Amino acid sequence: MKHCSFLLLTVSLMMLFPSFCPAAEEEAAESLPVRGLAIEAPKPGGLDRFLTFVEEELAPAHFNLLILRVDWNYAFESHPELRDPNPLTREDVGKIVAVCRKHGIRVVPQINLLGHQSWAEQTYALLREYPQFDENPSVKTANYKPWPNPEGLYCKSYCPLHPGVHDVVFAVVDELCDAFESDGFHAGMDEVFYLGEAECPRCHDHDKAELFAGEVTLIRDHLAEKGRQLMIWGDRLLDGRTTGLGEWEASYNDTWPAIDMIPKDVFICDWHYERADLTGVYFATKGFNVASCGYRNPDLCLQQISDMVRFRKQSAPETAARLQGYIHTIWSDANSFLNRYYTLKSGNDEGTSRPRDDARALQAVIAAFSPSASQ
Ligand SMILES: [Zn+2]
Repeated sequence: MKHCSFLLLTVSLMMLFPSFCPAAEEEAAESLPVRGLAIEAPKPGGLDRFLTFVEEELAPAHFNLLILRVDWNYAFESHPELRDPNPLTREDVGKIVAVCRKHGIRVVPQINLLGHQSWAEQTYALLREYPQFDENPSVKTANYKPWPNPEGLYCKSYCPLHPGVHDVVFAVVDELCDAFESDGFHAGMDEVFYLGEAECPRCHDHDKAELFAGEVTLIRDHLAEKGRQLMIWGDRLLDGRTTGLGEWEASYNDTWPAIDMIPKDVFICDWHYERADLTGVYFATKGFNVASCGYRNPDLCLQQISDMVRFRKQSAPETAARLQGYIHTIWSDANSFLNRYYTLKSGNDEGTSRPRDDARALQAVIAAFSPSASQ
């Protein structure tokens, strides 16, 4: 049944999206300008296989954007104390840049800013080395209890009003962008639950939407000085209660009015993993460039691509131009994902029946982008 529904979707996409027929890349670009993958950067030991993956899987399928979640997996010279053990070197990054350039793939590095400064019991490098930047230091990751927990600890945040935080953050952002020779930077900024906390002497009496918008704008302005574009996830700009989208893929903590406070040239990555929610239109009509983002349900991902093509066909040219495309997301480490991907590709995984599978989802997207692979 899944195979049948996939074929039907593929046929539908071929009707909607001419580039699904064997076509020149120019035609694909015209139909869907952004065809991206967002994934964690490989560790040095997995670099060669990752380069092969880009060359043999993404490039033939006409992907033209690779968002790499690097965080602290880089040998920063500006702040060596923030390096992960055994990080990517500048030479390693140069190999990624070279293979992507060869195939016309734009590379955008990512460091999670503001939120996602911890995971479960682990505090990540920025707050580990600079605990004074912690928005609510009374909450200790060492005491983490599985969600939902009484302290509301999902991930830690840094304080956006701390006078020292941006000197550190911008130094590593600039260094990473220089290494990747990138004209864009993805700051994450999703699922920021801790913001304007009562215990923060700087933020406690500030409006949370203004705090969020202020941080977005500060980062955007810094990047713009060097001609770089800011990309962020869109969830904090959506009203979780009114839309029914909830507190993960939208905001319950009153950040959503920030959508009317931030510069319009911030690129929005509009992720939805449970339904093919149609908020891309909302962002585009607000004046933002936006891409829909899917994850591990193959049918939903293909629906998101189909919707984006349909929106572009049915919208006024001004709006259609902002509906930029589709970015697939992978949330495990790159090496374990590639293990699953290549196992699936080898046919050894065919006996399993998993409705939510990131490898199957990417395989479906690749097939949709490259007709020869789906036939
Ligand atoms: Zn604060």
